[in-house]
Amino acid sequence: MRANVYLINENVYGFTRSCMHCGEETDFCLSQDEYQRLIINNEYIQDVFPLLGKEEREMMISGTHPKCWIEMFGSEDDYSEYEEGENNE
Ligand SMILES: [Zn+2]
Repeated sequence: MRANVYLINENVYGFTRSCMHCGEETDFCLSQDEYQRLIINNEYIQDVFPLLGKEEREMMISGTHPKCWIEMFGSEDDYSEYEEGENNE
């Protein structure tokens, strides 16, 4: 993952993301280990943070809030309704 990471203290790194939709900035913190894996080793975010939800991971990658994604692209509920609606023989 690419990010402008700065050192907060000896074992903590931080980076900032801006929401694509509302422009609001969110700060994230990484431990030394997370920083090493995510930024240096370029591991997948779901491998480094297996407990995070999809929306939280997306926010860490892009900074975009879940509610802003929905405003931009529509909700996943709409999508599943669309799939079910295909079966109309
Ligand atoms: Zn937003």
